[in-house]
Amino acid sequence: MSRLALIALLACATNAWGVEWDVYKSKHFVIQHRASERLAAEVARRAEGYYDTILQDLGYRRSGNFWLWDDRVTITLYPGRRAFMDGTQSPEWAAGKASLHKREISSYATSTEFLGVLLPHELTHFVFIDFIGFESEAPLWLHEGVAQWEEEGSRLGLRALVRLSVAAGRFIPLRTLMALDVRNVDSRGVATMFYAQSASLVGYLIEQHGSRRFGKFLRQIRDGKGFEEALGFTYSSRFRTIEELEEKWRRYAEEKVANGN
Ligand SMILES: [Zn+2]
Repeated sequence: MSRLALIALLACATNAWGVEWDVYKSKHFVIQHRASERLAAEVARRAEGYYDTILQDLGYRRSGNFWLWDDRVTITLYPGRRAFMDGTQSPEWAAGKASLHKREISSYATSTEFLGVLLPHELTHFVFIDFIGFESEAPLWLHEGVAQWEEEGSRLGLRALVRLSVAAGRFIPLRTLMALDVRNVDSRGVATMFYAQSASLVGYLIEQHGSRRFGKFLRQIRDGKGFEEALGFTYSSRFRTIEELEEKWRRYAEEKVANGN
């Protein structure tokens, strides 16, 4: 093979359906796309913004930057839904796909949910795992709660749903919520409440008690403490048990009715 042919081969990043990608790189992300450079730059700008916000909200102070150079996360944007479904073997209802092991998030350029909902949600899962590690015993509600809380485009609707449910006394008791495996839940209503309440709880801890303390709490879980033990250790002057947390969280959720936000 000639040297020129080899260089050309290396420069050709082909995708699953045999079409070359255009590539746009930012500090922490590689965007593979078939759209305009402008759109790719916008996706990178939003992703970099989420990266900063998520780290700040979770109180994650890692020494030095991460996801740099070869560790950058790849965002693959297919040109349309059909190409995305074919390229990722996804079902028709899926708006995107994330692979923690491949460090890749895929969606399609025309998706209305991608930039404001899916991208921040999946990036939060990536950062959260980076923070607490694959091995730690963080409960499912906490994984999904942080990811859902960071969905910029969902927060308003989520607050409204939770405040209505709490005001009507129709919420999942926290002890039940924390033991629930939503993957085995058939009821759509229960699943929706699971996600909304989990996010509201995370929002309560971050908004009312600060990201620094939340980061301290996550580090206790990373280091092997159970949820309630980590809660008591970190928030002992505010609440020590799940029941005490539930009482305070309910008041926070209801106050949002009075404030109207
Ligand atoms: Zn999730």
